[in-house]
Formats: sequence, C-alpha cells, structure tokens
Amino acid sequence: MEKLAINGGIPVRETPLSYGKQYIDETDVEAVAATLRSDYLTCGPRIEKLEKELCDLTGAGYCVAVSNGTAALHIAAMAAGIQEGDEVITTPITFAASANCILYCGGKPVFADINPETYNIDPASIEAHITPRTKAVVAVDFTGQAADLDPIRSICRHHGLTLIEDAAHSIGTKYNGQPVGSIAHMTTFSFHPVKTVTAGEGGAVTTNDENLYKRLVLAHAHGITRDRSQMAHPTDDPWYNEQVGYGFNYRMTEFQAALLSSQLKKLELFSRRRKEIVKLYDEAFSEIPQIQIQKEIPQSDTTRHLYILRLHSETLTCSRRQFFDALRAEGIYSQVHYLPVYWHSYYEKLGYKKGLCPHAEKYYSEVMSLPLYYSLTDKDLQDVVSAVKKIIWHYRK
Ligand SMILES: *Cc1c(COP(=O)(O)O)cnc(C)c1O
Repeated sequence: MEKLAINGGIPVRETPLSYGKQYIDETDVEAVAATLRSDYLTCGPRIEKLEKELCDLTGAGYCVAVSNGTAALHIAAMAAGIQEGDEVITTPITFAASANCILYCGGKPVFADINPETYNIDPASIEAHITPRTKAVVAVDFTGQAADLDPIRSICRHHGLTLIEDAAHSIGTKYNGQPVGSIAHMTTFSFHPVKTVTAGEGGAVTTNDENLYKRLVLAHAHGITRDRSQMAHPTDDPWYNEQVGYGFNYRMTEFQAALLSSQLKKLELFSRRRKEIVKLYDEAFSEIPQIQIQKEIPQSDTTRHLYILRLHSETLTCSRRQFFDALRAEGIYSQVHYLPVYWHSYYEKLGYKKGLCPHAEKYYSEVMSLPLYYSLTDKDLQDVVSAVKKIIWHYRK
C-alpha cells in the first residue's frame, strides 16, 4: 500500500491548492485603473451601470450595490422591518452573517434544520418553527444550489413572511429557469474574493418591490434623501437634503463597481468551468461508497461556489480531523463550511444549545470543502481526486 504523506510518504502535490481563489485578468486591472484616473471614486456612473447589469443578469427590477454581502443582509433585514421581538427563521449551515443581520435589527434568529441530502434549509422545518412572532425567513442558497424556493415562497405567502434569499454563493444559478435575484422579496449577494465573481469586497440587494427598494436605498446611505416626495420638510434650496430614516454608510466605491462589471463579463465562463469541475468530482466520487455526494434538486441549475466532500463516517476508521490533516499533507488545503451558527460561543451566550438541528450537526462532523475555482487545471483536479482516493483507501474499514 502507498504510504500517506502524513506518514512520511510523498505528497500528491508540492504546490498546495486552496479551496477557493479569485481570477483576475488584465481587463479587470485596466477597468480599475481607468476608474482611478476618472473623476469619480464613489457615487458615480459605474455604480449605476453595475446596478443595471445586475438587474439585467437577475431579471430583478431594482438593485442597490453595497460595500459587502453582510451590509446587503443588514439593509435587507432593515427593509423587511425586523425589530426587537421579531423572530426570523434561517439555516445553521451558513456563514454567520446570514443570522447576524437579524441580531443587528434586534430580532431573534430561529434555526430550522437542513435537508440531509441537499444541505439546504428544509421547508418542512421552516414551517415547524413558525410562531406568531415570525416576521421573515433568510434562506441561503448553500454551495450555490438554490434553496427549495417554491415551497419556501408558498410558506411565506401563507404566513405573511418576508423572504430574504442569501445568494452569496449562487450568482448565476437559476431556479425553474429563473435567475436567483428575481425570485424572493429581496436577494442579497456577496462579491468577496472567494465567491464566483469579486469586487474585492462588495455586495448587492435586488428586489422587484419599489417600496423595499426605496427603503434599501435609504438604509445604505445614512437614511438621507434628495427626493422631495420623501421629505417631511421639502424646500427649493438646491443644497437641501434630509435624513428621513435610519441608515449607515454602506456604499460601494466606483473602482469596486468597475472591477465587478468586468468580472460579470466572465460569469458565464466561470460558471461553465465550475459546472465541469463539479461533474468531474461527482463522477470520480460516485463510485466510492465512503463518500456522499451532494444531492442536486432538479429545479436548480446550479453555478456551484463550494464543493462539499462528505464522508460516511461509519465506513472509515479516521475522524474528519484526521482526514482533513491527511488531505493537507497531500497538498490539498481544505476548509469546513460551516460550523452550525448557533455553536459559535457568542450564540451560546445568547442561550442557544447544541442539539437544535440534528441533521446540521451531523453534516458538520463529516464535511470539508475541496478546491473549486475557475483556474484549476485538469491536472490539479486529478491531484485532488488521487489524494482523496489515497486517503479513503488508507482509512477504509
Ligand atoms: C460570504 C457570505 C456572506 C457575507 O458576505 P461578505 O461580503 O463577506 O460580507 C453572507 N452569507 C454567506 C452565505 C456568505 O457565504
């Protein structure tokens, strides 16, 4: 038997691979440089252009670009009217920001369990957690696969809840042929460098509702407006603006917008390659009984942000930690997405206890993310598959 690198053997790779990485080309660099030479560094034409491009891409009527995906979630929760005493249902298998945005507004995150095969929030568990205080749902398109939006929308309609879709992972994904961004009441995006397209830092909220749009615009820029129809004390004074609401400075800069516009031109290319990589991994791993492949619902045409390697822990002699370390020793630098949000000590201090969402907790104990990004070569992918197979072989029962 081959010796594992961890036991002193030769690693599959010398130059390590990370789980995610941005792809920046010269047209991206040129777009940013041109913006720096222009008159506007913020509040200029490139933001407007970007917002229009995101509307065109998603089919949404309105878009507000913001400084990051967390800001997008915050203003969406504000626009939904979340306040002290309100409950908002979300998934534990997500980045903490999906739940933190509820805390920012004084609301209480309520965690529904995931579907053990798709890893997305389970609509039946959403329904089971609804109380008279429930105001909204934050559904996450985990790994890029659309949450099961039809049943979730009908639950929201039936109970009068606002649906916020956290699409930080899923730009480019369609649900029943419709792009994410035009389906929920509000959809939030992140353009952090690990995501499919990047602005360095950046985010956006899309909506088809003009009233929500007006609230989002106010919340992302100090609550201040120049629109006289929104003012309590409109005047003719040309300098006059008025703070009519509560808000922050969550604006995106012009050079971030220029970078993102340039990246969006490559989205189809990125999307195609990501789909190829997922297919290759799925095919390679589908013959290995020790590995569970993420189930894809037929409604979702997915541009995947993360590839989850899930181990059937009962079939292996190693722990997830041993597997993770062995993978690292082979030159594959993985990461775990995610710790159930309510396991964070901050949430523990708020009173959340382990055991709330059994499927989510079991999921967490068995997973790690494999490299998935545009510039991976076929040779890189072969290395990842070889490393995984080598470790499975070593630890099989
Ligand atoms: C990345 C991410 C966010 C936050 O986005 P930032 O741009 O990093 O603030 C929110 N939700 C999910 C699911 C994410 O992956």
